[in-house]
Amino acid sequence: MNLDQLLNFNLWPNSLWLVFITLLGLVVASFINVVIYRLPLILRREWGEAGIPEVSLSWPASHCPKCKTPLNWRHNLPLVSWLIQQGKCTQCKKRISLQYPLVELIGGILALLIAWRFGAGLSSLVYLGFALSLLALAVIDAQTQLLPDKITLPLVWAGLIWHWLFSSSTMFDQVFLGALLGYLSLWSLFWVFKLLTGREGMGYGDFKLLAAMGAWLGAPALVPVVLLASASGLIAALILKLNAKWQGQALPFGPHLVVGCLVLLIGGKELAAWLGLAAWLEITRWAF
Ligand SMILES: [Zn+2]
Repeated sequence: MNLDQLLNFNLWPNSLWLVFITLLGLVVASFINVVIYRLPLILRREWGEAGIPEVSLSWPASHCPKCKTPLNWRHNLPLVSWLIQQGKCTQCKKRISLQYPLVELIGGILALLIAWRFGAGLSSLVYLGFALSLLALAVIDAQTQLLPDKITLPLVWAGLIWHWLFSSSTMFDQVFLGALLGYLSLWSLFWVFKLLTGREGMGYGDFKLLAAMGAWLGAPALVPVVLLASASGLIAALILKLNAKWQGQALPFGPHLVVGCLVLLIGGKELAAWLGLAAWLEITRWAF
C-alpha cells in the first residue's frame, strides 16, 4: 500500500480495518475511563462544591489512585497492562478497579461491531466516536446520575453536522426532526408524570441524550430506541428486586437509552428482519 491508499480508508482490506478499528476502540476507551472519572469532578468543582480536588482531563498525569505512583506507557496499555499486572498496582499491589478493563473491553467490542457494521471508511470512525461518547455517558449516569451537557450537546450538533455534510437531504430532515422529537417526547413524558404523581421520573439530561440519538439515527429510530431502553430498564429493575438490592431509589434511565441506541445502531437491520419488520425499515428509511 502506498500513502494515498493508506489515507483512503475505503481501500483498506476488511480484515486489516477490523483490527485497526478494534485497537483504536481500546485506546479511545482507555481515555474514556479518564473522562468517566474526572468530568464529574470538574463539573462539581465548577458548581462550587467544597472539597473537590482540582483536575482537568489532561492534568495531573495518570497515577495509581492509592499510592499516587505515576503510570508510564507500559502501565497504560489498554487491557494488556491490567492482565499482565493481574489487576494490581505494580508498586503498592492494591487492586485496580475492574471498571477500567471492563470499559476498555466494551470499547474494543463496540469498535469491532461498528467496523463490521459500517465497513472500511469514514463512517466507522465517526460512529465509533458516537458510540464511545454514549459509553462514557452511560457509565457517568450509572455512577453519578449526571448526563453532562458537555457531552450530550456537542453530540446533538455533531450528528446534525455529519448528516448535513454527508447524508441525503431526506436523511437530514429525519435527523433534524429526530433531535426535536427526541427532546420533546421525554420532556412531555416528564411533565405528564410530574403532574400525575408529583415526582420527577427522569432528568433534563435524558431529554438531551435522546435528542442526540435522534440527531444521529433519525426520528423513526426513536420509537425502537425507547422500547429497547424500557425493556432493558425493566430487566435491570427485576434483577435488582430479585437480589433485594433495590430500596426504591430512582434508577438512572440514561444507561438503558444507551443500550437501546447501540443495539439499534449495530444490529437494527438484523433485529427488524428477525421481528418481521423489514418492510417497516424500508418505509422509515432510518437505516442510512
Ligand atoms: Zn499503587
